[in-house]
Amino acid sequence: MRVLLFTFTLCVSLSALCQQTEKWQGKFEQLDQLLPTPNEYRSGSGSPGPRYWQQKADYVITAELNDVNQSITGSETITYHNNSPDVLRYLWLQLDQNNQAKGNNTQKTATNSMEDGAPAKSVSADLGLYDFDGGFKIKSVTAANGQALPHTINYTMMRIDLPQPLNPGQKISFSISWSYNINDGLMARERTQFEYFPEDGNYLYAIAQWFPRMCVYDDYQGWQNKQFLGQGEFALPFGDYSVTLTVPADHIVAATGSLQNPQNVLSKAELERFEKAKTSFDAPVVIVTHAEALQKEKTKSQEKKTWEFKAENVRDFAFASSRKFIWDAQAVKVGDQRPLAMSFYPREGNPLWEKESTRAIKNALEVYSRMTFDYPYPVAISVHAASQGMEYPMICFNRGRPDKNGNYTPAIRQSMVGVIVHEVGHNFFPMIVNNDERQTTWMDEGLNSFIQLVTELERYPDIPWTRGIPAELVPYMKGDKSFQRPLMTNSEQIISFGAEQYAKAATALFILRETVMGHELFDKSFKEYANRWAFKHPKPADFFRTMEDASAVDLDWFWRGWFYTTDHVDQSIDEVKWYKMRTDETKIEKKVTAQKGDLSSESAGKKSFNDFSAGPQPFSVIATDERLYGEFRSRTDDKAVMSKLQNKNIYEVKLSNKGGLVMPVMIEWTYKDGSKETETIPAEIWRLNEKSVTKVFVKDKEVVSIVLDPMKMTTDISLEDNAFPKTNAPSKFDTFKKKN
Ligand SMILES: [Zn+2]
Repeated sequence: MRVLLFTFTLCVSLSALCQQTEKWQGKFEQLDQLLPTPNEYRSGSGSPGPRYWQQKADYVITAELNDVNQSITGSETITYHNNSPDVLRYLWLQLDQNNQAKGNNTQKTATNSMEDGAPAKSVSADLGLYDFDGGFKIKSVTAANGQALPHTINYTMMRIDLPQPLNPGQKISFSISWSYNINDGLMARERTQFEYFPEDGNYLYAIAQWFPRMCVYDDYQGWQNKQFLGQGEFALPFGDYSVTLTVPADHIVAATGSLQNPQNVLSKAELERFEKAKTSFDAPVVIVTHAEALQKEKTKSQEKKTWEFKAENVRDFAFASSRKFIWDAQAVKVGDQRPLAMSFYPREGNPLWEKESTRAIKNALEVYSRMTFDYPYPVAISVHAASQGMEYPMICFNRGRPDKNGNYTPAIRQSMVGVIVHEVGHNFFPMIVNNDERQTTWMDEGLNSFIQLVTELERYPDIPWTRGIPAELVPYMKGDKSFQRPLMTNSEQIISFGAEQYAKAATALFILRETVMGHELFDKSFKEYANRWAFKHPKPADFFRTMEDASAVDLDWFWRGWFYTTDHVDQSIDEVKWYKMRTDETKIEKKVTAQKGDLSSESAGKKSFNDFSAGPQPFSVIATDERLYGEFRSRTDDKAVMSKLQNKNIYEVKLSNKGGLVMPVMIEWTYKDGSKETETIPAEIWRLNEKSVTKVFVKDKEVVSIVLDPMKMTTDISLEDNAFPKTNAPSKFDTFKKKN
């Protein structure tokens, strides 16, 4: 009997499944083997494990900027702390400038084709016609005692062989001296550049990747010495920096860290304004004015000045230098921190920059701090460098320039504000939550673009932001899959870089927060991830695991679909049947085998279900058969059950998942009286049948239309199949019919 009963109920509940034609793809299965096995360094919860370790690299750097031939000459002493459990016999350093050396692999491996009528600037970049002697000239690599250390340069990487093995817990100091020519940003689009201003004969330097930098050595992959080909950014260990920069005496320098000797490099007036800015919370204080910068442009000092900076617990150091800089600054309150938001820009940036830059820094610091942790560094700087958008600890280089008359369009303002919020936001990801950018771009660009959007929507509601908004991703999602790569793809192999690693990743997180998890669970989990991994090196699994660990939401289906595939979302309403219970039946019929399926087949084929015009179909509820009670002694009140359905409108809705991505189902019901109701069904509705589901809804009021994803929150690529009755939007079939 028991066996029989089991078979009976199973058959009913699986009736929809029996019709599955597509192969089950396990979309809700755990990621398991796709993720690394947890260990004592990285735990299964997504947090650093009990024996997590990371290396430390401290730098003392002395460098000079040559304004006559646009070059850098420097020397550094690196103290490398081996906190790993491993014995190291060699060290790897990154020589990023070699990416611009003659005969570099970036140019060699770039693919291109001939185009008639291409602009000279593009042809020059494409065919490597910019005659530039780039790349590091390494002069010496020496041990602390002055002895030369054997080293091997492999393109953008340098291996130093240690005289004695570096044991766990030991540190070693060594020195490197070098020089290199700075690229003209106009001719070679890099993340660092000089810009020449022909009108006044001056230069603006935005300097980065300018010194040999330690590679990351970690528990995950040993030395991260994957070559720099240009697209995959950087992986860097944390450390303390002490940097002295010698520049022309009339230059102003903006840099990572705190200025140590303002009294030596600033005028008395500048020094007073600088001090005043530290307590100005409402508006920026102008430290170097437009008029003062204009005056400085007219002459070129032959003297030099040395600026000293110190920065603790940073993964890099960048700076900018020019006699053209206007400089403003204000203090920002974030928790107990009082960082100084500062902007440096040539007069060509005004009036846009004096209005917007420092304000954008403040907005970014406030919202990002709320979403993650209080911004821990003493300064946050935005420098105006032409056509740039590039981030470093405490400092970033940003585009956004009015025309010669100082006019700018709303689009230029939007681009400028957006890029500043974005690049300042990079302080959080990846400068502090320090992921490996060379391997995984979405971990910083995607997470950052997402909080950028949160900041923009909150602080600039007047601007029509697009990146990260689900509906804006639809054109990409319905695009040619042969150009698409899953988010979990190494940077160098990505074609649609911005659309995927920035926009798709940001949209995925936006949907996760708005539609899947809700603000409370998402925000708590996201904050947990940021705090667990601040000043550490997270990997993708650490993010995936933490978001689930902190929320009790199994998101493996979401990561699987959004991060490991190029599938898209396309849900449709295939059929809706409207039922009403027979009202003339007051006495309970003693039908034995009647099932819901039988009832619907009763009229199937007789009525079309393109709209509600045919009216409701009747259905009956019969008395509960004795065998359904099994071992229970009590009995249901069949009449009471029936009375609950009296006069109700019952809708059997058949949905299909035409796209590959499983997503929650959002249904908007519009009733005859004009009122609306939206309900959200979790994505797990698809867990038994990933392609097609049927569900019955009981409504008091009569429904006139049903729409899926009414707020366009899922990136559903075709909306014409989202409505019942069908809307007037032409379907593919209608368009096809018209053409023929
Ligand atoms: Zn970015």
